[in-house]
Amino acid sequence: MSKSARPKTVIPLHEARGALPIPAAKPVIAGAALADARGRGLHDLRISVTDRCNFRCTYCMPKDVFDADYRFLPHAEVLSFEEIVRVARLFRDLGTQKIRLTGGEPLLRKGIERLVAMLREALPDIDLTLTTNGSALKAQAAALRAAGLDRITVSLDSLDDATFRAMNDADFPVAKVLEGIEAAAAAGLAPIKVNMVVKRGVNDHQVVDMARHFRGTGHIVRFIEFMDVGSTNGWRMDDVIASEEVVRRVSAQFPLDPAGANYGGEVAQRWRYRDGSGEIGAISSVTRAFCSTCTRARLSTDGQVYTCLFAQRGYDLKRLLRDGSDDAAIAAAVSAIWQGRDDRYSEIRTAESAKSRKVEMSFIGG
Ligand code: SAM
Ligand code: SF4
Ligand code: SF4
Repeated sequence: MSKSARPKTVIPLHEARGALPIPAAKPVIAGAALADARGRGLHDLRISVTDRCNFRCTYCMPKDVFDADYRFLPHAEVLSFEEIVRVARLFRDLGTQKIRLTGGEPLLRKGIERLVAMLREALPDIDLTLTTNGSALKAQAAALRAAGLDRITVSLDSLDDATFRAMNDADFPVAKVLEGIEAAAAAGLAPIKVNMVVKRGVNDHQVVDMARHFRGTGHIVRFIEFMDVGSTNGWRMDDVIASEEVVRRVSAQFPLDPAGANYGGEVAQRWRYRDGSGEIGAISSVTRAFCSTCTRARLSTDGQVYTCLFAQRGYDLKRLLRDGSDDAAIAAAVSAIWQGRDDRYSEIRTAESAKSRKVEMSFIGG
């Protein structure tokens, strides 16, 4: 849709469509591994702690949609820390081993380090990570680490200041994000993953520079294909640069060899520099779908469970959290939601589905 044809105020999809009915609860069998309709476990939970952000990345929260008229969630709709911890605990009991805090920009959520500490105390063995745009990381890295965060992923789309400022559309400089990365490394949040969304003609000229800058530092650049998440970023296949091409470009300068996955369900394909100076990752959601090993659930800022990044609707867990339901009832509901899960959007993506109205990434968390 052209900019001028877009409606001025977008009613967020979760408001327009409402939540899916929670399927009838099935009994949770103690000790039995939970699997969805395609045999995939429930190993990861991404929790969006805010739908707000100080950036307006053109591929995620374009300024002409996420403007002063956009209806962000009111405070009462946002899950409290106590509610988030309760959900996290229930997911852990159903087999979840990894939790990633995301958003929106998670470091904008007031007291985020307190949430990290609460999660760490409730779930001492969970792998606890966070994805951030890095803008506030310098000030918060040490506190996040002290609270019990294991690792961090920082998004950075370019080292060229003008390109980066244009992509974040908030005139935010590269230097401050790099300072955040340094502070995170000094605080012990390493190895740091650096996410770069590659968009043709916008920042693809920066691919090799990013690889050059971070090789030898221990940090891992992950090149992400521009995805058709949400319905406001004007996605076109022509703007996607396949990971294969990205890897070819990097390898031409710094030879790479394929490396195996660290764990089942890892989204990035790993490539190691032949000279031993580290590795990169390639996340190819568009050209090389990885749905068959997708073990991720998402909890939106307002407590809806989404079983796919490209979903159109979620399941309203918040209602159960606030209507007096006990833990067993909520666990049974999550279990039933997961058992009914059949998503494999990226495997069956079509030009039509890419244009369909899907929930925004800033709402359910990247
Ligand atoms: N604000 C934080 C950040 O930017 O790191 C966390 C939330 S953001 C939605 C999570 C990740 O999703 C970021 O690495 C971002 O670059 C990525 N992302 C957002 N929109 C995307 C798109 N259309 N295609 C591919 N990746 C996208
Ligand atoms: Fe904000 Fe992250 Fe989306 Fe950029 S990608 S607009 S930083 S939520
Ligand atoms: Fe998982 Fe959905 Fe992405 Fe497939 S499209 S990998 S099911 S989130």
